[in-house]
Amino acid sequence: MVYDVIVVGAGVIGGMVTRELTKYQLNVCLLEKESDVACGASKANSGFIHGGFDPEPGTLKAKMNTAGIGKLYETAKMLHVPHKQNGSFVCAFGSEEEPAIHELYERGLENGIQGMSIISGEEARKMEPELSEEITLVLNIPSAGIICPYELTIAAVGNAMDNGATLKTNFTVTQIQRAGDVYTVTGSDGQTVQGRYVVNCAGAYSDKISAMVGDDSFTIIPRAGEYLLLDKAEGSRVTHTIFQVPSKEGKGILVSPTVDNNLLTGPTALRVRTSGSTETTDDGMAIVRNLAKKSVPGVDFRQIITSFSGVRASVATGDFIIEPAKGAENFVNVAAIDSPGLTSCVAIAEYAVEILGKMDLDLTANPQFDGTRSDPHFIKKMSDEEKSAYIAEHPEYGRIICRCETVSEGEIRDAIKRNPPASDVDGVKRRTRSGMGRCQGGFCMPYVMKLLSEVNNVPMEQVTKKGKTSDLVTGRIG
Ligand SMILES: Cc1cc2nc3c(=O)[nH]c(=O)nc-3n(C[C@H](O)[C@H](O)[C@H](O)COP(=O)(O)OP(=O)(O)OC[C@H]3O[C@@H](n4cnc5c(N)ncnc54)[C@H](O)[C@@H]3O)c2cc1C
Repeated sequence: MVYDVIVVGAGVIGGMVTRELTKYQLNVCLLEKESDVACGASKANSGFIHGGFDPEPGTLKAKMNTAGIGKLYETAKMLHVPHKQNGSFVCAFGSEEEPAIHELYERGLENGIQGMSIISGEEARKMEPELSEEITLVLNIPSAGIICPYELTIAAVGNAMDNGATLKTNFTVTQIQRAGDVYTVTGSDGQTVQGRYVVNCAGAYSDKISAMVGDDSFTIIPRAGEYLLLDKAEGSRVTHTIFQVPSKEGKGILVSPTVDNNLLTGPTALRVRTSGSTETTDDGMAIVRNLAKKSVPGVDFRQIITSFSGVRASVATGDFIIEPAKGAENFVNVAAIDSPGLTSCVAIAEYAVEILGKMDLDLTANPQFDGTRSDPHFIKKMSDEEKSAYIAEHPEYGRIICRCETVSEGEIRDAIKRNPPASDVDGVKRRTRSGMGRCQGGFCMPYVMKLLSEVNNVPMEQVTKKGKTSDLVTGRIG
């Protein structure tokens, strides 16, 4: 079949663009090179809903950030994605940094951000007693928040699929050709998908996809951000997301609770060799530890449970690229979406579809579109009485598989079956939190493998950690 639109890349941007397209009577196909969605920058970032004071006024980034905040909160509610409007503090350490706080405040006003205030270090410490005594002035941004970025991506793609979109994983786009008004997109294993319009949402590889249709007008500069994630024992160290005054390298090291009550510290901003350089380094970890302690001296780094790194897809201009590709008809680049791309994702999706409309894509409303998705964590929100009644009818929700995060067999079975289905252990982890706790899957992994094997009807030896080439077991003994 010839799809109306092919979207390349199932990160939060590709996911939201696909969902936005399903609001219209269109056949949409989403292509992803990995075995699951949310495997790029959309799984490894700060999960922070930026208040909008940072981008240069007048840029696409500023517009998308300002428009995106409210749209993201609204969409997160509709899709039942864990989020919280916890507010953020940007902290100045002494008189040299204080003018920057006033500049950010003015910039925020210019960007149309409401509700900000400048408060003294003492006032801030009344709200956040663990803040450093060295902090003298603070920009307080109540509209800022936190969200689970991979659950947002999974929910966006899942909702798009529920509304009729097709997802093809393990499809690495290697070639794009156009004959007549049809694009043929070829994958690394030779399979092809055809469509009349293409949207490039390939994140750190978006320059490569654009070059396939002859537009090599931008080059992605990959910049890694390394993090340390701490146990829930540290999760209430602060309630706001705490930043330092940004530098030219980025928004600085944050200390923040997560929506799952862990404590997140990071990210660094280091230029890396390739878009796939997601390893963590001793130097990066040292920077994170030192700067996090500068803001919140009491952070106990003995409580680290894991480290990770994500790669920002930046370009020299510093702005997002959301525009028709140069020299290629009916092809839109949604590229260079570094921070605050997560905050802006719904606004970006709407803007990209508006561009497609201007290219004569027929945007007749889909009367069947349902923008809501049921809550995958519903059982956790029930009272004890409600849980008992539910478990009596559905005993699989009473069998706990992940003890650290209290995840039941019922939730795991649901994650393996519902859109977009989890096909490996990490896919289950991102959907249910099974394996995300203190023991990092040491206890639950074999049980998750058994459930993947059973539900997907594949031998246990074929169940992998993340994609086809990440075997967990080699065979049976006895
Ligand atoms: C360290 C860090 C911190 C950040 N913090 C924040 C924050 O707190 N708040 C905020 O608003 N934003 C933040 N961001 C930015 C945000 O994470 C990104 O803007 C957003 O995730 C970009 O989404 P994406 O879909 O464009 O990219 P990705 O999530 O990288 O998705 C692109 C997808 O394309 C796929 N792909 C690539 N090549 C091909 C191919 N050839 N064929 C098929 N598929 C392909 C990839 O596998 C990937 O899944 C941060 C980013 C980083 C890295």
